[in-house]
Amino acid sequence: MATPAGAIDDAALLQAAEAALRQAYAKYSDFRVGAALLTSSGRVFHGCNVEIISFPVGRCAERNAIAAAVLGEGPTMRIARLVVAAEFRGGIAACSPCGACRQAIVEFGADATVLYRDAGAALSDLIDPTGSWPLMVGRRRCDRTKPYCRRVRRP
Ligand SMILES: [Zn+2]
Repeated sequence: MATPAGAIDDAALLQAAEAALRQAYAKYSDFRVGAALLTSSGRVFHGCNVEIISFPVGRCAERNAIAAAVLGEGPTMRIARLVVAAEFRGGIAACSPCGACRQAIVEFGADATVLYRDAGAALSDLIDPTGSWPLMVGRRRCDRTKPYCRRVRRP
């Protein structure tokens, strides 16, 4: 899904992520996730999780949003901001991107801002002072002055 360009702020991205999670195919876990990303060109793309009974075959909302954005803008698509929202059995659940999604986000937006709706329904920044990007490789333009950059191991 894509939303036309316009004045997109984090509240609008959260609203888009919440709309996306309502479309989730989460029949096995009832854990619904929606993601909305803003590309550097100003377009918004959404994704929801799609579970398959063979667990690893399903896809996360974040990577489905990225796939939609690549489809919409091509291989040069870059992520500027990404917001994730989740619900478990109808209640708000805190859910930050998994390791695979973090790696995919870095592939298309090494400098992207990643926010997720926390249990209190506020938006939390994934890259916080405690560092939350521990396992990614390939982060481009790393200046090694940020805490999370120091945790990246390079081959
Ligand atoms: Zn994921």
